[in-house]
Amino acid sequence: MKRKKSKIVVLSGAGISAESGLGTFRDKGGLWDKHDINDVATPEAWRKNPELVLEFYNMRRELVLEAKPNQAHSALVRLERYFDVQIITQNIDDLHERAGSKNILHLHGEILFAQSILNTEKVYPVKGSRIELGDLAPDGGQLRPHVVWFGEAVPKMIDAEQIMKEADILIVVGTSLNVYPAANLVYACPPHAEKYIVDLNELSTAKQKNLHHLKGKASEKLPELVDQLIQESKN
Ligand code: NAD
Repeated sequence: MKRKKSKIVVLSGAGISAESGLGTFRDKGGLWDKHDINDVATPEAWRKNPELVLEFYNMRRELVLEAKPNQAHSALVRLERYFDVQIITQNIDDLHERAGSKNILHLHGEILFAQSILNTEKVYPVKGSRIELGDLAPDGGQLRPHVVWFGEAVPKMIDAEQIMKEADILIVVGTSLNVYPAANLVYACPPHAEKYIVDLNELSTAKQKNLHHLKGKASEKLPELVDQLIQESKN
């Protein structure tokens, strides 16, 4: 039996994959502690040193291929038996897919895919784990990671906003809501929707965004929330 209030939208970020061994961006020891964003994740970085950019993503791709979904990813799959679930993820890993979730929109691209520098719309699966300088798309353009770099447009924002508008329940998980325009998506969610945020840390703007904070690890707090929602759907 599906709950009458049945559309659940999940907005996930790097924190949901942290316990799978994939570093977040801003936490201590995170990716930006080790790399300057301007050197590896901007169009300027690509123009200046494409080899370094490719190496950064090759290294991250290898980590993604080794990682496994954790209990937070699996909990969202369970939810699908009772609700209409749509995931909007800022993550470029494929752990939601490998856990078995069906409806996933990747706002910032997917690291296991490449795109041509001549055409951003066509994507190609990366062969093996690496993209090298000289690897070309069928249109003759150099391949680059299919990820949205800082300073680039986010083409999937319009679709994501539309999905948000239909939410009866919003679950935000493992994101500092610091990256824009993704962070604005929360405001597209209808005022009547129940809104939760699962995160180790309290977000200073959580109250203002009307998000009920469930403090703790995604692998513990998200399964608890999922069980609670499933239980309520049966009552
Ligand atoms: P962020 O690093 O800004 O925030 C991570 C959030 O996760 C923090 O609020 C932190 O408190 C929380 N967190 C960390 N470990 C947690 C855990 N075990 N349980 C619950 N919460 C936990 O990341 P963001 O908000 O996603 O935004 C930054 C960008 O990072 C996104 O655009 C995304 O593309 C990119 N990113 C993706 C990956 C990935 O694909 N796995 C990894 C790193 C960064």
